[in-house]
Amino acid sequence: ANELRLILGDQLNAAHSWFKEKSSNVTYVIAELHQEANYTTHHIQKISAFFAAMQAFASALEKAGHRVIYLSLDDTQNYTDLPALISFLITEHEIKTFSYQLPDEYRLREQLADYCKQLTIDSKAYDTEHFYLADNQLASYFKPGKKHRLEHFYRKMRAEFNVLMDDDGPLTGQWNFDSQNRNKFKASDLAEIPEPLVFANDVSDILKRIERHDIKTIGKAEKQLLWPVNRSQANALLAFFCKELLPKFGQFQDAMTGKLIEFGEDKGWSLYHSRLSFAINAKMISPQSVVNAAIDAFHHNGNIDIAQIEGFVRQILGWREFVRGIYWANMPHYAALNALDASLPLPEWFWTGNTKMRCLSHAVTQSLDFAYAHHIQRLMVTGNFCLIAGINPDQVDNWYLGIYIDAIEWVEMPNTRGMSQFADGGIVGSKAYAASGNYIKKMSDYCGDCHYKVTNTVGSDACPLNALYWHFMDKHKESFTNNPRTKMVLSNWLKKPESDRKEVLTRADFLLQNLDNL
Ligand code: FAD
Repeated sequence: ANELRLILGDQLNAAHSWFKEKSSNVTYVIAELHQEANYTTHHIQKISAFFAAMQAFASALEKAGHRVIYLSLDDTQNYTDLPALISFLITEHEIKTFSYQLPDEYRLREQLADYCKQLTIDSKAYDTEHFYLADNQLASYFKPGKKHRLEHFYRKMRAEFNVLMDDDGPLTGQWNFDSQNRNKFKASDLAEIPEPLVFANDVSDILKRIERHDIKTIGKAEKQLLWPVNRSQANALLAFFCKELLPKFGQFQDAMTGKLIEFGEDKGWSLYHSRLSFAINAKMISPQSVVNAAIDAFHHNGNIDIAQIEGFVRQILGWREFVRGIYWANMPHYAALNALDASLPLPEWFWTGNTKMRCLSHAVTQSLDFAYAHHIQRLMVTGNFCLIAGINPDQVDNWYLGIYIDAIEWVEMPNTRGMSQFADGGIVGSKAYAASGNYIKKMSDYCGDCHYKVTNTVGSDACPLNALYWHFMDKHKESFTNNPRTKMVLSNWLKKPESDRKEVLTRADFLLQNLDNL
């Protein structure tokens, strides 16, 4: 009987059991969908990267002897949505069974489940066979509304999958080396940061298609896309990471610099980060193969210490699987949580980079240029600003979901709404990652070149992050005094003379009324 198998743009997993056998009765469909290009305003490099990777995957499948239909934006323009397209294909190809892999995103999973309910032919949903934990295992690890903690989950995963373990427990006896991974770059470190490995994938036809169909996008378009779009490029990036970047990955994981521009535009903008998130999220490579390659390098290369490899493994085996569990346990209502009642609109310079705050201008400009910022830029620069200024989490989510090459809701939302904005009231993390300008000064070289003075809290040239930070702490003092992790800071604030506090809060009010002009 004829079977139609749908492959979504982030399901490019060549190792899936679907592809073990070839059959002329099975037709695969990979389609550039208008609904996917338009559900938020994406970065143009993100849409081009997904389409280029989908095309490459379709031709690889075809070469391997499978029957594949690839549909471009031109071919799908007359179908209102994905179900309408599938219905057409079912009739056209006399399909008897419709199969799909479980989408990672709630919106799509609901859409396909609802569609299948009313289908008169058979339908089947398969696991994506990508994550460490299978879809049907998640419910036993994560409970709705529960305040789960990464560290607990991560240790369990290490033991369960026997990653960096020996007979008695964690390799070297210690689970976590985070405290050793907080170095800042010294001037002498900067010249050593390797040039990133980039690709030059010709996406000019895709760009024309995006324009022809009037898809609204943000960011800088690149005809020669630097992101990996197939498995061999993803593997090359992984090998480059293990050799050149992993030796210092942990050490400089939280460091930021605005100085690399002086070394030439492309020099080291992603620092010691892997830039593998797009390839992993699109499932071109598996998290297991990434973790295994890195551990192999740790055992054999001789220049990677335990703090570096542990830091890297924690991100993938720990955080990545963790946020996915939180997402599925708490959707759909997670998407509406706003525990801190944040309501201001996102400042306009989030779309231009046009602000006098050096750290924010660098993070936003880099995001618009490369569809990329590393974790600490996302969490402690743009994220922290939105948190302490009280920006509406719907708008914050929407910005993150659009701008980053790796942004797919299941991983974007718990990181943004949860970890960064604390809008989930502590389901993902135990405290709000709020910081004043002092944190930026400690972890970067931005402040020296900034229009504002990081040492000042009041006055027109004072770093806006300082007054906004105290305003934020003061506004939420009732809930934060009960939190052991914020109690101390708050009591120091409340000990200050009232007139001092008032001066700071007045400055913050002024800033909040003028967010577009900072
Ligand atoms: P590296 O620093 O090299 O880390 C290695 C890998 O670990 C990443 O490729 C990624 O797969 C994984 N990883 C690291 N941190 C996390 C994390 N917190 N959650 C999940 N996986 C993680 N990541 C996304 O993949 N998509 C998103 O939409 C996304 N949105 C984010 C929004 C905010 C506000 C924050 C604070 C973080 C977000 N992250 C997101 C997590 C993280 O910032 C990115 O995965 C990382 O910056 C990608 O760059 P990289 O591949 O160079 O990562």
